[in-house]
Amino acid sequence: MGIYVQTPAPVAADKAKRQAAMDRSIARAHQQAAAGVVPLLLATTFTGGAIAATWSVPSRTSDALYRVTLAHTAEAVVTTCDCQAGAAGRLCWHRGICRLAHEERVSSRTACGYRIRPQRKPAPVKAPVALPTIGGKVVDQSALTGRRRSA
Ligand SMILES: [Zn+2]
Repeated sequence: MGIYVQTPAPVAADKAKRQAAMDRSIARAHQQAAAGVVPLLLATTFTGGAIAATWSVPSRTSDALYRVTLAHTAEAVVTTCDCQAGAAGRLCWHRGICRLAHEERVSSRTACGYRIRPQRKPAPVKAPVALPTIGGKVVDQSALTGRRRSA
């Protein structure tokens, strides 16, 4: 397991760089998922509200299987990967695809073969709102709440 060392007081440029690296990792993970890569969930443990998961992701360039750890706490989701890039602390797509699988945004499977399909959340249904009327005229609700109507 790699150790992530936070450098003191990251400046805005570092933050932007890190965000760009995260975006690249997630974008590549989506590409690999679309190409048929399905991460395998090896183990999950729950301790005191935190989730610790171990994933296996096949390499696209060799027969290697990379091991990704994911820790989901109240503060953050932190991942590590034992591939070359991951061991160097870089955000590889293996880490990205496990994060997406953890969030059920891409397909994944478990050791017993059960496959989790990404969830398609239905669009929220807008309930028709009946406006209050008095004598067939819609009541100006701003007058009822005493608040000014926003433009
Ligand atoms: Zn990796």
